Amino acid sequence: MTAELVITGGRLIAPAGSEDAGAASVDVVIEGGHIAAVVPAGQAPAARRTLDASDAWIMPGFVDIQVHFRTPGATDSEDMDSGAAGAAMGGVTACVIMPNTNPPIDTPDMVNEVLALAAGVPCDIRTSAAITQGRAGERLADLAALYDAGVRVFTDDGDCVADDALMEAALAATVRLPGAVISQHAENPAMVAGGVINAGAVAERLGLRGRPAEAEVSVVHRDIELARRTGGRYHVLHLSVAAAMYLVARAKRDGVAVTAEVTPQHLVLSEDDVERLGTTGKMNPPLRLANDVAALRRGIVDGSLDAVATDHAPHHPSLKERPLVDAPPGMIGVETMASVVWSELVASGQMTPARFVEVVSTAPARIAGIIDHGQPIAVGSPANVTVFDPTESWIVRAADLQSRSLNSPWAGRTLTGRVRHTVLAGRPVVANNDLCA
Ligand SMILES: [Zn+2]
Repeated sequence: MTAELVITGGRLIAPAGSEDAGAASVDVVIEGGHIAAVVPAGQAPAARRTLDASDAWIMPGFVDIQVHFRTPGATDSEDMDSGAAGAAMGGVTACVIMPNTNPPIDTPDMVNEVLALAAGVPCDIRTSAAITQGRAGERLADLAALYDAGVRVFTDDGDCVADDALMEAALAATVRLPGAVISQHAENPAMVAGGVINAGAVAERLGLRGRPAEAEVSVVHRDIELARRTGGRYHVLHLSVAAAMYLVARAKRDGVAVTAEVTPQHLVLSEDDVERLGTTGKMNPPLRLANDVAALRRGIVDGSLDAVATDHAPHHPSLKERPLVDAPPGMIGVETMASVVWSELVASGQMTPARFVEVVSTAPARIAGIIDHGQPIAVGSPANVTVFDPTESWIVRAADLQSRSLNSPWAGRTLTGRVRHTVLAGRPVVANNDLCA
């Protein structure tokens, strides 16, 4: 018998807490979009196609639950094809796109329209939908109808839902919608109005209005109390401030249904990098203080934070060439996520490979209700698989990334660890660092 696809000679990462060191080499046999067998290396049947995983880890495909693919409305910055190609190159087999498109994704018709635009791309694209109609923060969208259309993540991302009563109603609605989650861009709009970068020494020196940490802490505090009262499920997008993380960690201990994600940039960069990076260093929430970075790094290791998500935010070069005050906020990152986290946290010995799999795959899939990704490499699992070489080092060149935009904060940086192959639903979409036709 000839197998469809075999990934040969790689190592599996045993789940955290398991006794199995996972050091032995295996072959993973894939048939009909699922993992059909996991056998000792060299024992797989002949295959129509093989992917070599020697000296590499075979991991569940990565899941990025916060990306902006700018479709519809700004496809000169990114489109579904370029966004998904970058995801695939980054080992990301599933993405959740944010609803701040033009027009916004706030009705079942819009959900169906964007999913149709994403058909056939090399990544499994799911969409979130707005919490409020038109993302205007005034009236709830029809969350039940959006849920019936398949949406599990609700967010006005780009904007914060500031109104207490609306936020309470949205959280209460998730109690009746199993698996749904309210994801908040936690920055109090009144406190950040006109703000460009973190309210701190750099903003002062540059004469810029700042976005204070308290704008995040106050919203996270309020939302946690609303989640506690309603029993609703709450998720903090791109958490950036240590004090907000401590609130999340304490609420989890209390049994509140709260999770939080952090971006690679908030795990590595601080406000001190803004002048070097120029407009690429501008995002919302902003790069914070070195103290915050250190705390968030501890938090993603110890479980205070649940997941890494990129907030992949492409902007056409013409938009980022404006002065810092006028340039739109955001950085690209879906293609570099795994390598940045591996370089900074795993290669440096702070994070185990098992925890890495949790934060880039298992946990984000669970948070966003994506059941066919983030599953263990085991018989019967859907074959969404990434082969990751932990020692290959490479230099990031923005122009070589798949994005239609260039605003990568990692340009010029040498990273350790790189995606070698990506398999989506049993089909290779990246082989040997190259997109498959
Ligand atoms: Zn956001």
